[in-house]
Amino acid sequence: MKRVNLKCPYCGSRALLRPASVVYGERAADPSAPFYVCARYPACDSYVAAHRESCLPMGTLADKSLRNKHIQAHAALDRLWRDGLMTKRQAYLWLQAKLDLPEREVHIGKFSDFRCEQVVQLCDSLFPQTPKAAYPYTKYIGKQVIS
Ligand SMILES: [Zn+2]
Repeated sequence: MKRVNLKCPYCGSRALLRPASVVYGERAADPSAPFYVCARYPACDSYVAAHRESCLPMGTLADKSLRNKHIQAHAALDRLWRDGLMTKRQAYLWLQAKLDLPEREVHIGKFSDFRCEQVVQLCDSLFPQTPKAAYPYTKYIGKQVIS
């Protein structure tokens, strides 16, 4: 297990490899899952999940606002295949084409605020008849955001 040197993009402190229980407490689905957490946490509320085997981060360190944006973007994209509009693979290819990004960069966990809003807009535009609020984004809250 090799840790990666990461800096917090918000305050510039080092990110430390710590267990999920540090950020989720008893709510952690998997308390020992590795996370990169800002050394100033909780004063600086910034972290990202890591892969257990490689210890590579699953995205960039994100604060609460950006984490929520990631969750919303994931929910909007997942809706495309959950509602049967296309397969999961097709949904990612569609998004890749819409954003004009190479495949390796199509990871919502690495997206900025702006990109996340773009994803939600693009995905919602495929459902002109359904108000956005009708979709239960909240069911994703608290789940680990991956890919
Ligand atoms: Zn920080």
